[in-house]
Amino acid sequence: MHNASMPVLIVGGGPVGLSTSLFLARHGVPSLLVERHEKTSIHPRARGINARTMELFRSLGLEESVRTAGAALARNHHFLAVETLAGAELWRTYPWSSRDYQAHLKQLSPMNWCMCAQDELEPLLVTAARTLNCELRFGSELMAFEQDNYGVTARIRERNTGEEYIANAHYLIAADGAGSPVRHMLNVSTRGRGTLGHYINIYFRANLSTLVQDREFILCLVKNPEAQGVLLSVNNTDRWIFMMLYVPESGRAVEDFTPERCIEFVRNAAGLPRLAIEIISIVPWEAAIRVAESFQRDRVFLVGDAAHVMPPTGAFGMNTGIQDAHNLAWKLAAVLNGQAGPALLATYDVERRPVAQFTAEQAGLRSDNHADYYSSGMVDDFAVALGYRYQSAAVISEKKETSSNGALDLSGQPGTRAPHIWVGHQGRRISTLDLFDTRFVLLAGMDGNAWCHAAREGATALGLPLDAYCVGATGDLIDLDGNWGTTYGVTPSGVVLVRPDGFVGWRTERIERDAKHTLEMVLKHLLCHEVDISESH
Ligand SMILES: Cc1cc2nc3c(=O)[nH]c(=O)nc-3n(C[C@H](O)[C@H](O)[C@H](O)COP(=O)(O)OP(=O)(O)OC[C@H]3O[C@@H](n4cnc5c(N)ncnc54)[C@H](O)[C@@H]3O)c2cc1C
Repeated sequence: MHNASMPVLIVGGGPVGLSTSLFLARHGVPSLLVERHEKTSIHPRARGINARTMELFRSLGLEESVRTAGAALARNHHFLAVETLAGAELWRTYPWSSRDYQAHLKQLSPMNWCMCAQDELEPLLVTAARTLNCELRFGSELMAFEQDNYGVTARIRERNTGEEYIANAHYLIAADGAGSPVRHMLNVSTRGRGTLGHYINIYFRANLSTLVQDREFILCLVKNPEAQGVLLSVNNTDRWIFMMLYVPESGRAVEDFTPERCIEFVRNAAGLPRLAIEIISIVPWEAAIRVAESFQRDRVFLVGDAAHVMPPTGAFGMNTGIQDAHNLAWKLAAVLNGQAGPALLATYDVERRPVAQFTAEQAGLRSDNHADYYSSGMVDDFAVALGYRYQSAAVISEKKETSSNGALDLSGQPGTRAPHIWVGHQGRRISTLDLFDTRFVLLAGMDGNAWCHAAREGATALGLPLDAYCVGATGDLIDLDGNWGTTYGVTPSGVVLVRPDGFVGWRTERIERDAKHTLEMVLKHLLCHEVDISESH
């Protein structure tokens, strides 16, 4: 294999590394991804994809393919508790399908929660990445790297041949999972509650389809002394996971989970002593909360499980990681394209670490309260997924705010995900979120034409990709439901500037005398050029 030179080297081809390569490609940034395994993971770990991640997949044009890949799980809406699957049902809850939940989510997002097992999702991301000419090298392992003021030099080993080569890059993104060799090489420590529990995932084939028909579940708690655990469906027909807690301190060890014992556990959980079972794998894992103390060391960034580990309760781990990658991609693109100052990159850690800490705490609360799912301190799952707020140099806040992650007040405040409303655009009905795709977007009220002109001129002067629209009854964007002003919190002469990641960077209510100068200052500020924003007011 020849030496390689790329703007960005991505280490790890899990869902987060693959998404990183896609987001970068979308911004026109070539990358090289190395993954030590020959293929994508065979383990269907993550299954829950939240609305925010689905919004990002929609922006990549993957919405339909993800839904299709997850079609087998489209009917799985509730939590179930049983003595055995064939025996007594103890309770059912419907955390995500209540009418109130759906109505609220519909107002907030064009997307909804989707189930799709990770082993179905990853190949789909590989295909999409290859279509965008991303270079993915499976069977390639990062062995070592060093960095200086000019870039990163990495030593990569082809695992098949043992051959080694050098990859040079401006930046390295570590998407190398919970054990993150890169994080260890950087000596970045982690903080958090640490280990919460030890689990075994028994991944097996068995025909349980008739037993679950018409009560397809997200998870099924099995409460019986012969087999305490959680049954998870992978495809609702013949692939399942039985997840069991074990306590090493009480003498249980991984070795106790022999294939024979595991078959017995599954038969007890199903309540079918002669059930035909084929064990696919028996994998131990640890539920833990560990968040890296820093997500950046100079030219190296940590994303996904490399940056934060959290228990699967709430289904936040992969989602948070994919959202990290999305936050980082536009910043790297802007710096590599010479549009932003390098200080923009420091906002990745400032913005994403508090979100990871908050989300990991929420996952921890769900893990503590498994049987009593909604209890003290928890915020709704979709408030966790959508309701976080950034405070950094890449946001111009309106007033000093204390962090309020999970508040789910998406009404155009700087630092929050720009609101979703339906608008008419070129004869089509689209979500405002469909506009936020790699470029800055300025949305002005009906009296804001001057803003749109100024924005286009200012962006041209800065060499920035920017779209500007007037929104209203007759604007470039037709306000179909008449809720633009109230939802975005602006008057007809006001304006909202949305960053390329779909987060509000700046908002003002009034026309400025020198709109072009104001906008240039605002854009430079958001891109972390050294400017004094007070000049613009
Ligand atoms: C039982 C269970 C259920 C879960 N359910 C959900 C859920 O519903 N929703 C959700 O969002 N999350 C869920 N998660 C969490 C989710 O699986 C992880 O957060 C996700 O896999 C993290 O993705 P990643 O790409 O960061 O890391 P990984 O998927 O761990 O990928 C890291 C990759 O890096 C590679 N690598 C490591 N070192 C090197 C090296 N030196 N060179 C090259 N490659 C290297 C590894 O081989 C690996 O493929 C669940 C987890 C578990 C255990």
